[in-house]
This record gives sequence, structure tokens and C-alpha cells, in this order.
Amino acid sequence: MRLFTVSDILRHFPSRYGEAGLVKAIEFLNDSENAVVFGKISKLKTAKTFKSKVAISTAEVEDSTGKVKIIWFSQPYIAKMFFEGNLVRIEGKVTERKDGLSFSNPKIEKVTKIPEGTSGSLFSGSEGDNPNLSPIYPESRGISSNWIYHSIQKIFSARGGSASGGKGFLDTLEDPIPEKILKKYNLPTLKTALVWIHAPRKKENAEIARKRFAFEEIFFIQLDRQKEKFIAQKEKSFTIKKDAEVKDFVKTFPFPLTSTQNKSIQAILDDFKVGHPMSRLLEGDVGSGKTAVATAASFAAVSTNPPNQDFGNLQVAYMAPTEILAEQHFESFIEYFSKYKVPIGLITGSGAKKFPSKTSQGRTLNCSGPKGPTLAWTKISKPQLLKWVENGEIPILIGTHALIQKTVKFKNLAFIIIDEQHRFGVKQRMKLRRKHDIAPHFLSMTATPIPRTLALTIFGDLDLSLLDELPPGRQIPETKIILSHQREEIYEQVRNELKTGRQVFVICARVNDPDPDKENTLNAKSVKSETERLQSKIFPEFNVGSITGKMKPAEKEKIMNEFKDKKIDILVATLVIEVGINIPNATMIIIENAERFGLSQLHQLRGRVLRSSFKPHCFVFADSKSQKTITRLKSFVNAKNGFELAEEDLKQRGAGDLAGAKQWGVSDLAMEALKNIKMVEAARTEAQTLIEKDFELKKYPLLAKYMTEKNVVHME
Ligand code: ADP
Ligand code: MG
Repeated sequence: MRLFTVSDILRHFPSRYGEAGLVKAIEFLNDSENAVVFGKISKLKTAKTFKSKVAISTAEVEDSTGKVKIIWFSQPYIAKMFFEGNLVRIEGKVTERKDGLSFSNPKIEKVTKIPEGTSGSLFSGSEGDNPNLSPIYPESRGISSNWIYHSIQKIFSARGGSASGGKGFLDTLEDPIPEKILKKYNLPTLKTALVWIHAPRKKENAEIARKRFAFEEIFFIQLDRQKEKFIAQKEKSFTIKKDAEVKDFVKTFPFPLTSTQNKSIQAILDDFKVGHPMSRLLEGDVGSGKTAVATAASFAAVSTNPPNQDFGNLQVAYMAPTEILAEQHFESFIEYFSKYKVPIGLITGSGAKKFPSKTSQGRTLNCSGPKGPTLAWTKISKPQLLKWVENGEIPILIGTHALIQKTVKFKNLAFIIIDEQHRFGVKQRMKLRRKHDIAPHFLSMTATPIPRTLALTIFGDLDLSLLDELPPGRQIPETKIILSHQREEIYEQVRNELKTGRQVFVICARVNDPDPDKENTLNAKSVKSETERLQSKIFPEFNVGSITGKMKPAEKEKIMNEFKDKKIDILVATLVIEVGINIPNATMIIIENAERFGLSQLHQLRGRVLRSSFKPHCFVFADSKSQKTITRLKSFVNAKNGFELAEEDLKQRGAGDLAGAKQWGVSDLAMEALKNIKMVEAARTEAQTLIEKDFELKKYPLLAKYMTEKNVVHME
């Protein structure tokens, strides 16, 4: 979190508000409780500790019932802001120290009078400069809630610049949201909302202020996405009409397509025909068969000649988030295209490959069926591969981010597929599109189930196709929460499974063991020690391997190949295997410290053993006894699919507990608002209307300026 400017501070919103019921007489304070006391301050002192040079300020506060000590660490300015005898309100946590009870790092503010009496209810009737809902800010590194509170009070009372004619600073702020929209939805103006969110007199005021800022954030994201969509709809792209050919092509697959796969392919083929670029999101649970859809669409593109030509083909770029996945897609494409022998290239940070191989020296795909050695690829130099891509000889190029480097030029790039869209920023996607004279069609794919409101917001510029059924015969993993005394029993079950030739994943939350000298490090199993333990103590008769995100790509590839070739029976891994990995022979997954993972992540992990017709199992070990964790894990066990889980995740999360929000580039505040479909739809409608009438926002210069300055889109 960075807090630099006045507006950064003003927009650092409280995460919650202290409750009036916390007011106590000093005599009745207890250890470890949060409380508010009123009293007279005395004995203000600031000193530095010898060892760490931390400034420690101390004071005492006294009311008619007793005295309590106050300690602030690293906040030397506090002692300067108050004088002996000031009446103050103290709010914070009480802790028992050697010399009695004290408040450490509490919030402090001056008051003009001490409310009568000192028990619970009275405070709610307070007035004047005693706000009865005191804001509590998320503390950033080195910046306390208290400092933020005081800075904001200063800003509120500051005068505007000389040009303001002596107006208060707040009066100089202009509201970027058009007044009409505020009126329509009964939202407060920027000025009012700022006061209400930081210093509310009433709970309802704070709530409506939060609603305004949430609306604002979602509205800005929507504006940005709707603008993208609007611009894209005006662009020209290649026209592709290959419905009949695609029908024949998918008949060569070793399975019939599911009806949702067919529907998605049709939606893409329809988009391909209109001459403007497609922007579509294919959202499908893990294992729902997105690659088959991508392949069919790619086939339509590569079997089309460039305009005004009766030879050559349009080209396809397929981008994956990791090298392992790029390799896997490369091999899947080779298999899907096996009857057609379309040349396919692979480019990653580590090198380049090409199919088919003229020399037959490359690795032969380890695939079932009578295809054998004809499916061999070979390693080639990157410059050679890029030359063939540039002159159009290679119609399909698969790769990692290496694919969007300047050196990669296509002759007729018509279609871009991005796997695991959420790992890839919106801006990067835009950049990729703008690079070309004729805009390519876009298919983004994600297995991360996203609540509908979130999808409508962050992917607001995309049309949506859902793969919400799994191919027939697929068995949903049996998921069990395992208590610590059942560990041995589970290992026996795993052993029996391994004996039948199946393989197993073990997921740990961390790579290495924590530094034992450091305090506060989280206590969770690590890949390193768990691999050693499983190999030497539990499964000495099997091969245990490990893989983490920290390994070099070549090393990862080696391990993955060993696992594919069954040289490794048990693979201990971090979240690295979260997305896309396809090992049908792996039928069990053990997740250690499951309390550390989000519901969607757990679901993704479970999806790793959903690929075969063997009965899969998922064992969840959790270290936490908290009711919240147990509720969360139970909904993980019971959820039928990822979409259900995503909605559940959104429902269960409370304010301030929305770690996942950052991944999407939306604030915790907006994440709260995403629980409210009506608000999201309102923001979307308003953004659409504005953009359709005036996509450059000429009539709303302030809004336009705000959009560029804020650069509201920063999803990376
Ligand atoms: P994901 O949506 O997770 O990317 P994949 O495309 O990797 O899923 O497909 C998962 C597995 O399911 C692959 O082994 C693929 O061959 C298989 N598959 C895909 N579609 C079907 C289908 N309609 N019927 C049976 N198996 C399928
Ligand atoms: Mg996939």
C-alpha cells in the first residue's frame, strides 16, 4: 500500500468503526479487551529505547474511578499534540503488563467534555466533537490508524489554496461522478461521502458513503471496459466462415463433445463471421474441456485463406501462463490436429520447438492410439521458428509471455487465445490487440470460477461462454476433511492406491521451513520437509518428488515429465500445479494446511485429480479449529461446482477479510459491493449509456481526466 498524496490518504478508508458500547470506566478495564475510556491526560513523555531506537511515548489517563497507563511505539508526535490536563478519548486494546493494565498504541483524540457517567450506553448520546463511531483504519507498514485519523482531521479543517477564496479544502474537491447519476441512485456527493466515511455521526451515513465509493470504483472499471468494448466493435478483423469444416474436424476427436462445448464453439464461429473482433471469455470448471473448444476454433482460423488469396492460412497464437502449461497445450494441439498435420510452434523462455519434425529426432508423444512416431516434434532455434511464423509457414504458435515480445511477428494473426486469463492483465491484452493493423479475435479462458457480479465487472468488455458441465463419466472427487488422528489411516488408503499404479499429489502451503530464529512465522508444512518425511518415514517403497514455483523452468519440466512417465509416484508441490496440469493417472490429492488456501484455490487443486475415469479423492488437512475455517472447508466439501463455490466464497467473506480482491484489482470496499448484483448492474448500465453517447467523455472532462489519471485498471 502506498500513501503519498492527500487524495491517497482521503481514499484510505476505515475498515470498520469502533462501537459505542465499548466505553468503560477505567476501574473496570480487563486484560485483552478493546475499550474506550475518557479522562484527563498527564505524565506525557517520549523516550528512545537503547537497543532499537524506537521512540516510546507514555502517558497516563485518569477518570473518577482510576488511572491507566498508555504506551505508543514509534509515534513521537503524539506527545507533542496533547498537553497535560487535556480531556481525551482513548480507544484501543488493553494489555496486562508488569506494572498493571495499559493501552498500547490506542487511538487518542481531544474531547471538550467527558460524557456523564462511564458505562456503556451513554456514549451513543454524545455530540460535539465526539464522533460516536470512531473509524478504524487498516494499518499500513509504519503508518498507524491513529496517524491516518489525525492527518484526515487536518485535511478536513484545512483551507483550500488561495484560488479557493478561503473555502475549505473539501469544498475545492470536484466530483467526478455526474450529478445526474448520483441523484438517480441517491448517492452522496464526493465531499459529503468523504466526511461521512471518515467521521460519521450515524452508522447509516457511513454505510451510504461506502456505497458511493464502491459504486464509484465499479462504475470506473465499467467505464473502462465498456470503452474497450465500444472501440473493439468498431475495429476490423478477419472474417472466418468454417462451420461445416469445423463439424468434420471435431468428429476426429476421440470423444463426442459435450453440449456446452458445442454451444461455445458455435458462439465463437458466429463471432468470427461479423468482421469485427471477438472478445469472449470461456469460463469452464477445471476439466470441462476448454482446450478442445480452443482447438476447434483454431482449426476454423487456420483453415481460412488470408483475404483475396486462395492459398496460405490465417494464424493463431495461444498463450499460457506457465511453461509447463504451454508445453502441455503444445502436445494436446499436436494430438487434436493429428489427422491434419498442421505445423505448430512452441516458444517459451527456455527455447523453441516445432511440429512436425522432419528428422524424427524429437520426443515422440506418449499418446494412446495408433498415432505413434508420426507425432514427433523437434527442438529448433528461436530465430528459425520466428522466421517461419513471420512468413506464415507456421500457422499455430503456442507459448508463454515470450509470445508477445516485439520480436514475434505474424503474417496474418487472426486469433489469440489466452489461457487462464486472470493471470494476464487487461492492459496486456489491450496492448496485444492494438499491435496489429487488423484486430485479432480474442478468446480468454479461465478455470477460476468467478462470481457473476465480479465477471460482469472486471470482464465487462467480454462476452461470456460457460462450460458448466463436465464430460460424461468424469467422477467428482470424493472430498474429506481429515482430522489429525486419522492421518495414519489416510496414508494406508494412499498406499493401497499407489499399489494399484495410481499417482498422488501432496500440496503444501510453503516451499521451505521457516527460519526458526524469526518469530511470528507461520507454522505450516513445507514442500522441502514434507518430501523428506514422506520419502524416508511414510512411503519408502515409492518415489517421492517435489516441484515448486521457485525452480527453473527446465527443472520443472524435467520433474513434470518424470511424473507423467510415472518415475515419480508422489509429487509434493506448492500452488505451482494449481492451473491446468493434466495427469489422468493421478487420482489422489492431499492438501496440507488447507486453511491457508482460498475456496477457489482449493477447488482448482481438487481439479488436478478430476481428469480420469478412476474414482478420485481429495483429502483436506486443516490445522485450524476456528469455526470460520470449518464452515469454509465444509462448503468446499459440499459444493457441486466451482461457480457455486465462488458465490459461496463471496457470501462468506466479511469486510476486511477479502484477500482475494487484490488478485482482481478491486478494493475490499468494491468487493463488498460485488455482493449486490443491483449495484453492479446499475454501474454497468450507466457506464454503457455514457460510452454509447460519448465514448471519449467529452461532455464529462472531469470524469475523463479522472479515468486517465487514476488509470483505474491495474489488474496484473
Ligand atoms: P480444461 O477445461 O481444464 O482446460 P482440458 O481441455 O484440459 O480441460 O480437458 C481435460 C481432459 O478432458 C482432457 O484429457 C481432454 O482430452 C478431455 N476431454 C475434453 N473434452 C471431452 C469430452 N467432451 N469428452 C471426454 N473427454 C473430454
Ligand atoms: Mg486448461
